Amino acid sequence: MTKKFLMILTSILIIVLMISGCGDQTRETAAPESSKVNNTKENDGVSKPIAEPDPVTEKQTPDSEKSEESSEDNPPEDELSADERYYVNPNNFRIYPVDKNNNKKIVLLTFDDAPYGDATLDILNILDKYDAKAIWFINGIYAVRNKPLLEEIANRGHVLGNHTWEHDFLRKMTPEQVRKEIVSVSDLIEEVTGERPKYFRPPFGQNSDISLQVIKEEGMQTMNWSVGSLDWNTPAPAPDEITKQVLSTMHNGGNILFHDKTITAQALDDILKSLSEQGYRFVVPTEVRPE
Ligand SMILES: [Zn+2]
Repeated sequence: MTKKFLMILTSILIIVLMISGCGDQTRETAAPESSKVNNTKENDGVSKPIAEPDPVTEKQTPDSEKSEESSEDNPPEDELSADERYYVNPNNFRIYPVDKNNNKKIVLLTFDDAPYGDATLDILNILDKYDAKAIWFINGIYAVRNKPLLEEIANRGHVLGNHTWEHDFLRKMTPEQVRKEIVSVSDLIEEVTGERPKYFRPPFGQNSDISLQVIKEEGMQTMNWSVGSLDWNTPAPAPDEITKQVLSTMHNGGNILFHDKTITAQALDDILKSLSEQGYRFVVPTEVRPE
């Protein structure tokens, strides 16, 4: 009974923390609600680093072996050996190795609101330098104007995730709009990669009942993050503040939320250098864990 209560409490806490999320940029302040939400997020993000998810869920320390996806670009799952397979825990959004005997330090890098264009290539080049793969959460509005960059991200072996078309609040949309927001981006990604995306991240970290249903129908896993870079704050933080924020809240299995922004690109080399020196490997999930 007590345990169940604790689990419910923890779930509520996580939901509250997640709402603070995908802060999303000054560039999005066009939407009237955005700035409001940004402020909320800033505060939440700073005071409670989402890095403290739940003690309730599974083992605290993911581990792992592997990966740097050497030469092959995302080989099909069934061709991967156990120590090359990872999943994101749907409760705390951390990444774990499928093989529980792996105990290497791992981290998942994610870049939202992509491909924005200003710094996308810079970020790609830094990731290559560290042999790091990431999930890029794609918005249709940016992808259609930067199609070659979308293809470049895919060609370099990264995972394309769905972040909706317009990057707006799903909860204020009609069911038809929600469906269109999500399915249209999966269609676009399929055009580029030949496969529908497996991972979904809702704008501002907020799903709706309908979006959860569409995600399920599409066979996707929804995920927020466990380490917030705060690169979405307004005014924009300096690159070294982003570096400090990430490194000070990092944990094994961390799922780091970045954005496809210039200040993030400016911080990224330092962050990846430090994480490499600490023994982290940069890995992406290879399978879906919906619930
Ligand atoms: Zn976003």
